[in-house]
Amino acid sequence: MLPVKKPSKRALAARELYAGLRALHPDAHCELDHASPFQLLVATVLSAQSTDKVVNLVTPGLFARYPDARALARAEQPEVERLIGKLGMFRQKSKNVIGLARLLVERHGGEVPASLDALTALPGVGRKTANVVLGTAFGAGEGVVVDTHVQRLSQRLGWTRETEPEPIERELMSLFPRADWDLLSHTLIFHGRRVCFARAPMCVTCGVAASCPSAGAGAEAIGRKPPRARRG
Ligand code: SF4
Repeated sequence: MLPVKKPSKRALAARELYAGLRALHPDAHCELDHASPFQLLVATVLSAQSTDKVVNLVTPGLFARYPDARALARAEQPEVERLIGKLGMFRQKSKNVIGLARLLVERHGGEVPASLDALTALPGVGRKTANVVLGTAFGAGEGVVVDTHVQRLSQRLGWTRETEPEPIERELMSLFPRADWDLLSHTLIFHGRRVCFARAPMCVTCGVAASCPSAGAGAEAIGRKPPRARRG
């Protein structure tokens, strides 16, 4: 049996702070409405550059008409465009979700595969989308989903000095056990949407302020600007 590696002091401190966040948001979950792995996959593809709220406005109509991959694979693009027209890049997204539904039917019998490689081979599906689906639908994420909230909060909480999603993901994966990866991103997203806003984070009332290295007036400047702007 391999010896169990002891977590570093840094990892233990990060896990303690995370326990505080979990206590603040015990109901943290994926906020994209869905009733199956297929619907979660489509909703996640649609959420690129759009908020979950607006995606949740369009998916009931889309899924009523096309509830599964077989139905969406037969869709006409203009009809899908009409149903998701509130979203940015709706034409490209319509093309992608029809294309991915067709590939699901051709390659996977209409089911969503539970593998990172198979998912990222689908149109419009990158590592982040694949990990949302693997973590939320199958409880088997192969990484930490790093969106804009996770990116910002990881920096404010002192868990990373990295600014790009991929190195941040690697650092989070080294600090937290695999079993935490899925809920870790949902919890950070919950906190980012409700307390630790990009602009004017609510440090005064934040439940983890006592352990947060960024608590106070300077927090807003951390993790907010796009990396390119910060380097300039
Ligand atoms: S104390 Fe401020 S910066 Fe730290 S997590 Fe809370 S709101 Fe965010």
